[in-house]
Amino acid sequence: MSELGLPTNFIQNIITEDIKNNKNEGRVHTRFPPEPNGYLHIGHAKSICLNFGLALRNEGLCNLRFDDTNPSKEDIEYVDSIKRDVKWLGFDWEDRLYYASDYFEHFYQFAVQLIKDGKAYVCDLDPDEIREYRGTLTEPGKNSPYRDRSVEENLDLFERMKNGEFPDGSKVLRAKIDMASGNLNMRDPVLYRVLRATHHKTGDEWCIYPMYDYAHPLSDALENITHSICTLEFADHRPLYDWFLDNIDYSKVEGVKGRPQQIEFARLNLTYTVMSKRKLRQLVEEGYVAGWDDPRMPTISGLRRRGYTPESIRDFCDRIGVAKSDNMVDIALLEHCIREDLNANAARVMAVLRPIKLVIENYPEGKVEWVEITNNPENPEMGSRTLPFSREIYIEQEDFMEDPPKKFFRLAPDKEVRLKGAYIIKCEEVIKDSSGEIVEIRCTYDPDSKSGGPTAGRKVKGTLHWVCASHAVDAKVCLYDHLFTQENPDNDEEGLDFKSKINPNSLEILATAKVEPSLQEVEPETRFQFLRQGYFTVDQESTNENLVFNRIVSLRDTWAKIKKK
Ligand code: ATP
Ligand code: MG
Repeated sequence: MSELGLPTNFIQNIITEDIKNNKNEGRVHTRFPPEPNGYLHIGHAKSICLNFGLALRNEGLCNLRFDDTNPSKEDIEYVDSIKRDVKWLGFDWEDRLYYASDYFEHFYQFAVQLIKDGKAYVCDLDPDEIREYRGTLTEPGKNSPYRDRSVEENLDLFERMKNGEFPDGSKVLRAKIDMASGNLNMRDPVLYRVLRATHHKTGDEWCIYPMYDYAHPLSDALENITHSICTLEFADHRPLYDWFLDNIDYSKVEGVKGRPQQIEFARLNLTYTVMSKRKLRQLVEEGYVAGWDDPRMPTISGLRRRGYTPESIRDFCDRIGVAKSDNMVDIALLEHCIREDLNANAARVMAVLRPIKLVIENYPEGKVEWVEITNNPENPEMGSRTLPFSREIYIEQEDFMEDPPKKFFRLAPDKEVRLKGAYIIKCEEVIKDSSGEIVEIRCTYDPDSKSGGPTAGRKVKGTLHWVCASHAVDAKVCLYDHLFTQENPDNDEEGLDFKSKINPNSLEILATAKVEPSLQEVEPETRFQFLRQGYFTVDQESTNENLVFNRIVSLRDTWAKIKKK
């Protein structure tokens, strides 16, 4: 643990050491660099919490930078959604919102300098040939026949690439490093390609675009980033990251100081989830889910719509920590985090998801009583509310059994239960329709059994939630299950595509739920505990006329159970 009581991690240890040694004059400057080609997911949340968190903790800064070097897949819709999601998570880039495309001119000038220094050349091999010449992990590559072009010829060709004289894909600019390097990334990597695509920011100004490996270290350097944190798959790219910083004199650019260092950490993998944007996009575009913010999606907007709070997601990111090797996190931990948050903060209310009518025969017709119920026994400050009670109420179908097994402590013929906050009732009769379906339960009540009454202390085994029939409000309720049936849908050992593992029962819609009247006017995103049913939120598209609730999680905490074992 650190002095602040926050869990520490190996990156914080590096930073602490760097500050001690006055590296970069003691500055800490990180960045979160999404590519705007999809919506952010919970894995990105880990990176956001890490980058912004380290900056906050070390009195540093964190930039939001769009890594927009691949115009064919990128879109302004994604830029907007990413900004919204980072803000919602609770982080602030202040005035430091950047785009790699802001630096296109610098990147171009740096490339010209590399050519002049004999460290880059224009290559006419096509993509297949480049791959072929590249060699393999066990065999060295072969030099491109264009590798020894003169500086003048390279300068001329590169300028003409930029001027649009060559068709897409016909020429690339490559770094001249080492085709025999043990690291494939160092075998003359491509820096620029010809691509005619309209960029969301620079429009049609450029028809050559830089590659990620080239643009990233230079963007970091131009923004004075000190610690450039990325996921493990980039470890093999680090020598290239450093090669660009060693061979390009970025420090001449006004305001630029210091040199960034790339540090890799393990990406988040979550059970029953896929996390690649490419796969998430497939789910959206092929209609497996209703959109990027479908409450079953691991996207930040999906989790938000599902009812997760930013606090619970940040708490989750703190608890999973930061490791140096890949692992798989149990989704039950994420669910545990939202339960803990809502257990303390969500009001308890009554909602009957699958209603059946119950009539109390000895309760006066037309009478309405108001019973008082506490809003959150965990949090007395949340106060109480009153609820109407009368002769006809709804209870949950599953809370009644005509022929119950021994340990059924709910309602059954001749059995008694307490109605939460109200009276003890006894089942007298069951009314069925012509097909034998139960349509109504007839009961009597003990008028003295209300809180404070003479028989209030009478012991009965079960307590049921209920809503008053004449005051109940209709609602639609969506229950969710994991989107995939297997813990690791990415595992293709059986040769099965991840989409074949989609859970066909991941969404159940209950269209005829009845909720207590206090829920008649609720703001979207308000969260509640529906007694005995779980935590729910008001869907973003819910209105007072058409109430829609999403179940965030049920009450059963499998994570807490695992921890107890
Ligand atoms: P994906 O593989 O889902 O498409 P990506 O890495 O291509 O993700 P970027 O937009 O490039 O997506 O990611 C922005 C930042 O988020 C990067 O620094 C990346 O390392 C980090 N990141 C992406 N996925 C995860 C993850 N699962 N866990 C932690 N960090 C992640
Ligand atoms: Mg990426």
